[in-house]
Amino acid sequence: MLAGSAFGMLWTKSAIADCTGAVLTDALISRFKSRIQGMVILPSDSGYATSRLIFNTRFNPYPVVIVRAVSESDIARTIEFARTNNIALALRSGGHSYIGASGGSGIILDLSLMNEVTSLGGANFRIGSGAQLQNVYGTMRCNGNWTIPSGSCGTVGFGGIAQGGGFGYLQRSHGLTLDRVRSARMVRADGKSVIASPNGDADLHWAIRGAGGGSLGVVTHFDVEAVPYQTIHVKGWYWPLNLADQALNKFISLQQEGILPRSATVALVFNANSAAISPPQCVCVLFSTGTLAEVEAVKQLFVGPGGIPETPGLGFEYDAESPACDPHEMPIRSHYRAKSAMVYGNVPTDTGALLKHWMERRIADPFLTLADYGTINFLTFGGAVADISPNATAFPHRQALLEVQFLGYANTQSPSVINANLNWIRGCYADLFPRLSSEGSGCYVNYCDDDLADSQWPSFYWGENYPRLQQTKLRVDPENFFHGKQSIRLPEL
Ligand SMILES: Cc1cc2nc3c(=O)[nH]c(=O)nc-3n(C[C@H](O)[C@H](O)[C@H](O)COP(=O)(O)OP(=O)(O)OC[C@H]3O[C@@H](n4cnc5c(N)ncnc54)[C@H](O)[C@@H]3O)c2cc1C
Repeated sequence: MLAGSAFGMLWTKSAIADCTGAVLTDALISRFKSRIQGMVILPSDSGYATSRLIFNTRFNPYPVVIVRAVSESDIARTIEFARTNNIALALRSGGHSYIGASGGSGIILDLSLMNEVTSLGGANFRIGSGAQLQNVYGTMRCNGNWTIPSGSCGTVGFGGIAQGGGFGYLQRSHGLTLDRVRSARMVRADGKSVIASPNGDADLHWAIRGAGGGSLGVVTHFDVEAVPYQTIHVKGWYWPLNLADQALNKFISLQQEGILPRSATVALVFNANSAAISPPQCVCVLFSTGTLAEVEAVKQLFVGPGGIPETPGLGFEYDAESPACDPHEMPIRSHYRAKSAMVYGNVPTDTGALLKHWMERRIADPFLTLADYGTINFLTFGGAVADISPNATAFPHRQALLEVQFLGYANTQSPSVINANLNWIRGCYADLFPRLSSEGSGCYVNYCDDDLADSQWPSFYWGENYPRLQQTKLRVDPENFFHGKQSIRLPEL
């Protein structure tokens, strides 16, 4: 612990302490600030109140210092400062971590100003870690009509999504975001910069494609290979919630039969809002880069002969400019809880009825309104995701049939709403997860869940890849400087 100050009254009186008890004096901060090219934001600065916040309002971080880095040397100096003063360091790109990993009470190293998206010629782009998806998609379209398979929310940071996976509506045609990462530059805990690539640190290249952020070092930028943009046709239709069993069984069986073309990624969404329509509904949404005839042929597999007739008059269709095309997205800072499951095999055929039950229960909850959005949604895997072997990158769930996300929002900070939301998501997950996991299980590291026990999350997120990740961790960060609630642990020696 460092204390005392020779620098005048201001900081001596109010020397800032983080949760480790370390105290930063005005002299220390002043010296540090003079070495940083970007911004150093302190609790007394006017920008602090908004800069400290992250996307999930479940967390209310009060960091001792926020550093908005603009260069690799800013990153290395911030690491050195945090190490020397024994202060926890949290890394932030877009600030969307589900478990508040980019907040905390230590130093926040914010990469949001390192957000350039640059064409390197042809399909190759360099993407700063702090770039938001909407800028990645926009710049790629404007520089040769390219795009990249990635997430549906435009404000998500590339630094976070690309290291954990990158699920989205182009995943069956083009894979995950991390599958397009050809190399990345990283500043390690010792301040050295390395290139994670097949010709550089190849093991690190393996690891950063699935490890998720916050465990190995600070990625400054990624070099990616984009894919040609093709019009993304979106078609959505509704099925009565009373037919939830048939809807889910049809969705799963079409996926199991392997007859969906790679151009199509399909979502089946149970959400409280459509379950509140009279009569209650669930929604199926098809995202396709195929021709319009192909799109209609795929839709007919679901709603035509042998399928389930759609509810008349409720469907929608449009062409999307980018993979950020979820009409139900809520890109506003909110309090939310999330959980996930990877589905590897059969699901009991009455599971849809249980989903219906949990949707109805949410709607009937006296503390929750429709503004407290709640959803359980399924997304098809396979196609390009499954072309890659489960141990070829650190992302292990290549052979999953489906991914399921549970999301519950509390629209106010009222404790009764927050509790009702928490009880709902924990209850339906406890009921449904075993059914979804009959032939293998797992969770998605980017939908990280702090309800998972320490005995669960490493194997759920990384499966058999975890021991290798631990070895990589030992090699690049042997003192476990980069650590957090669910960061990769050092192997027991
Ligand atoms: C509204 C919303 C929509 C979403 N939609 C999708 C989706 O469609 N598909 C999908 O796959 N995921 C989606 N996600 C999940 C998203 O992929 C993860 O939350 C992701 O980690 C967010 O990255 P970020 O940079 O915004 O977050 P941050 O909180 O900044 O970072 C996430 C993690 O990475 C670490 N980190 C950040 N930057 C770096 C860096 N440069 N080097 C090393 N570590 C770093 C952080 O410390 C933290 O542990 C969504 C999340 C939200 C909130």
